[in-house]
Amino acid sequence: MLRSTLLAAGRSPRMRALAEGAAPLRPLVSRFIPGTDLDAAFAAIRTLVPDRLVTVDHLGEDTTDRAQAERIATAYLDLLRRIDVEGLADRVEVSVKLSALGQSLAVDAEQITLDGARRVCAEAAAVGTTVTVDMEDHTTTDATLAAVHALRADFPSVGAVLQSQLRRTEGDCRALAGPGSRVRLCKGAYDEPASVAYRAKGEVDASYARCLTILMAGEGLPMVATHDPRLVELARRLGRDRAGGYELQMLYGVRPDAQRALAAEGERMRVYLPYGSEWFGYFMRRLAERPANVAFFLRSLVTRG
Ligand SMILES: Cc1cc2nc3c(=O)[nH]c(=O)nc-3n(C[C@H](O)[C@H](O)[C@H](O)COP(=O)(O)OP(=O)(O)OC[C@H]3O[C@@H](n4cnc5c(N)ncnc54)[C@H](O)[C@@H]3O)c2cc1C
Repeated sequence: MLRSTLLAAGRSPRMRALAEGAAPLRPLVSRFIPGTDLDAAFAAIRTLVPDRLVTVDHLGEDTTDRAQAERIATAYLDLLRRIDVEGLADRVEVSVKLSALGQSLAVDAEQITLDGARRVCAEAAAVGTTVTVDMEDHTTTDATLAAVHALRADFPSVGAVLQSQLRRTEGDCRALAGPGSRVRLCKGAYDEPASVAYRAKGEVDASYARCLTILMAGEGLPMVATHDPRLVELARRLGRDRAGGYELQMLYGVRPDAQRALAAEGERMRVYLPYGSEWFGYFMRRLAERPANVAFFLRSLVTRG
């Protein structure tokens, strides 16, 4: 119930405008989002790269006009050039949401999105890094997987994201477990109906374990995106001595001690680091994942008056 309410609030344009315009909230979101511009993002990236890899997300989603889609594509090009200038292409890649590039526009959505994504992938290839396409709510899954498929024809390293909460995902894992395929497996951050998704945490976790087993038995690179200690241990067990390796991934600000400890034990650990001024939807998903975060946020608000 609380999760659904927070996730619905996160998609409200009115609440988004109010929150993102409220400067006093910014320090409170900095646990999950290090800043709104490239300088802030790179200050945080530099603290991570000595022992971890990074994937950077320029925040933005549910783009409503073409100019905004263009701005976001350009922001990714700037981000990739900065990765190059900082000499970090071997440790830092980017994650991109297709709804930010125009997937939900009323006219020419597919073409605009694919054009924007191709420009981002071409710049990433020129710089020497990779792109992973985030997965959003289930109404976009088919279109997003079709776009990833199209992008992979020219840029084979483009990564896909699958969500274990969706009932279809075991099948998608089988389809995407081929050679060269990079697949990030997460539980799923969106509020989905029971017709397409497992709603009970135990079912989502069991689905994750099944999907992980499929990806680990396949020939691609499994990217294990979870903070769940039991699933991290399962990944390490299944991935031990795996020829193509695997990668653990966690979010910036979530279980940083575990991130450091796993990296120190020799795990390939990548941190998902978002930056930008459109932080509200991302931040609300982080609150929804853990009720304790809501209490922390409210306490901080009260303390700050
Ligand atoms: C690298 C990465 C990329 C992702 N990309 C996508 C995507 O493209 N699409 C998508 O739908 N979802 C994405 N997610 C989010 C994901 O779907 C989950 O919502 C999120 O990771 C929480 O699930 P969990 O696997 O950590 O397990 P949970 O069972 O939710 O959490 C396990 C434990 O991790 C800790 N934890 C988890 N979340 C938080 C938090 N917000 N704050 C503090 N502690 C926390 C707690 O200790 C919790 O007990 C991504 C997650 C990661 C790590």
